[in-house]
Amino acid sequence: MRPNRLNPLFAAATSLKGIGPKLDKVLAKLLRPGAPANAEARILDLLFHLPSGLIDRRERPRLDQLPEKGIVTVEVTVGKHRPPPPHLKRLPYRVECFDDTGTLTLVFFHAFADHLQRMLPPGETRFISGAVDWFQGSPQIAHPDHIVSHEEFARLPLIEPVYPLTAGLSPRILGRAIRASLEKIPSLPEWQDESWLKRKGWGDFSTSLRKLHQPATHDDLNLLTPERLRLAFDELLANQLALSLVRKHMKRKAGRKLAGTGDVRTRIVSALPYSLTSSQQTSLAEILRDMAAPERMLRLLQGDVGSGKTVVALLALATAIETGTQGALMVPTEILARQHFATLTPLCDKAGLRLALLTGREKGRARDELLAALAASEIDILVGTHALFQEGVEFRDLGLVVIDEQHRFGVHQRLALQAKAQNADLLVMTATPIPRTLALTVYGDMDVSKLTEKPAGRQPVDTRVLPSERMDEVIEGLHRLLASGGRAYWICPLVEESELVDLAAAEDRAKALAAAFPGRTGLIHGRMKGSEKDAAMARFKSGDITLLVSTTVVEVGVDVPEATVMVIENAERFGLAQLHQLRGRVGRGSGKSTCLLLYQGKLGETAKARLTIMRETEDGFRIAEEDLRLRGAGEMLGTRQAGLPVFRVADIVEHADLLAAARDDAGLILARDPKLETPRGEALRSLLYLFERDDAVRLISAG
Ligand code: ADP
Ligand code: MG
Repeated sequence: MRPNRLNPLFAAATSLKGIGPKLDKVLAKLLRPGAPANAEARILDLLFHLPSGLIDRRERPRLDQLPEKGIVTVEVTVGKHRPPPPHLKRLPYRVECFDDTGTLTLVFFHAFADHLQRMLPPGETRFISGAVDWFQGSPQIAHPDHIVSHEEFARLPLIEPVYPLTAGLSPRILGRAIRASLEKIPSLPEWQDESWLKRKGWGDFSTSLRKLHQPATHDDLNLLTPERLRLAFDELLANQLALSLVRKHMKRKAGRKLAGTGDVRTRIVSALPYSLTSSQQTSLAEILRDMAAPERMLRLLQGDVGSGKTVVALLALATAIETGTQGALMVPTEILARQHFATLTPLCDKAGLRLALLTGREKGRARDELLAALAASEIDILVGTHALFQEGVEFRDLGLVVIDEQHRFGVHQRLALQAKAQNADLLVMTATPIPRTLALTVYGDMDVSKLTEKPAGRQPVDTRVLPSERMDEVIEGLHRLLASGGRAYWICPLVEESELVDLAAAEDRAKALAAAFPGRTGLIHGRMKGSEKDAAMARFKSGDITLLVSTTVVEVGVDVPEATVMVIENAERFGLAQLHQLRGRVGRGSGKSTCLLLYQGKLGETAKARLTIMRETEDGFRIAEEDLRLRGAGEMLGTRQAGLPVFRVADIVEHADLLAAARDDAGLILARDPKLETPRGEALRSLLYLFERDDAVRLISAG
């Protein structure tokens, strides 16, 4: 149960004056973007919404000294009003202002003329605050945050924090709500070690939080102020404590010894058209050792795209079957589930393993029969999407669960899985080369096996960066490739926020390419029905079509070794990790492969640096480190979708050293007080609730 003293922080934002249901929706969307649709904003969310800037009214530039952008306060004389012509109400209402150095236009859409006449009487002095914008060389401010007279200005605070906003939310209302929230912070027990706080020169949680909302200078907004560090450490400690608790909980559940005889495994290995790389052998040995031990296995198999994780998983699953248990292989997408099913079926047939497939699409009688077979142990390995762990799916005796591309699953799915898997061993696999710091926040100190080499015979992918004006040459090259029997992918980018707009762009491109390559082009995108996607994939695999136009749905795991060219449009908009994944779709066979990164317009410095890295290296870890350095963690992986933890205060790059300290601290704390029962332990429970890592608290009480 959540400690009562925290209740004021979890109260709804609507309990504040001036916040009604409509604003609540807007706030929830801004402050809790990952949460379910009906989630409401809470006081806590307002408090963790930290300022991104400040208005300093002590500084008032003259109009000839306005900056390129940013929020300014100016003192001006109101000039002419220019309402839109009566039949063109969509045009803005403009008000000219001036001082003795220049002019400034105020711009209002959907304005009420009466109201503006009252606010801005011509000839009077007004103080205006708002974001400057330049239009055809002249400064303007659209919808100023404040328009006040001399007397009113004297009453305004000289310094005011500026918060990130969203459509439908005014800075004044948000500022007021946050100030009101600051009043609600209850007194909280100290959960950090006093001597550590002293050494760091950090204050307590509440004081630090208040101070962050009251910046006096731009330096106070820095990520390295003592207040920010204190709160970042709190958050990282909560993250590390929760991970340690989950891990301890899973390890505490008696595992089982799954020591196989090796015969099924041997049959599979001899059916393979290749021999295992030495990394595959080492990783497999580590996995088998864990499975044979009485403790529960909790292991991460990390290996770059194309390093051959699937076969390692299959051999581990075979071992589980040898001991008389069943296995499950869970993947994040339908396409991938079907692909794994298709590639594993011949191997399983040879080894006498019964493999079945379950996704959201298996329904009715077929599904019922499958579930009955599963419960009767007539299925050895079940491959599928998260449908595997829905209600009604009961294994007779589940020994090993493998999760592929595990970063794609959310925390909830992982917890649901853990409930279902009981004491089964767990192997998770990921190709996302996560930098070490970030890995710590996702996996804590899970045991890790790494595939460090690629199967022999792979050739490096020749990567080139080209402006989109050279698309004609690209298409010419494709003509030659397809004429000689080659296959290629063409990836259309995420241009807009809206999936529909992207889709339209992809469809247009597919149409144009289909005209250039009649009868050979197929399209695949996220809005298609599962069966349609399968059909398109199958036609590409079989060579029936040889150019596959796609949105990023092919990103994860798709394996068509005959494809040797990957064209990516607007490559500058993709994350590096994503480009790396996409490029990993080629260079899988023995043919020489090429990846063409097309960019649009002029590239900025960072974009240039990022694409250069892609050209220079195929080492996923280096790419990930560089991406993290260039862009920061939040953007790198599309954090939320990737199921990575979302930090509200901490910044993985800037606060990396705190993360290591938090991990060590979490270890010490739990060694001394495993159930968090001491007074400090009690306080730490509050910390876990405060940063919403309280799933872990329940694990303690589950005993
Ligand atoms: P990923 O690690 O990205 O999941 P896959 O398991 O899909 O990689 O393997 C990529 C390709 O490499 C597959 O076509 C697979 O059959 C092949 N492969 C796996 N191991 C080896 C090996 N030891 N030698 C040659 N090819 C291999
Ligand atoms: Mg894979």
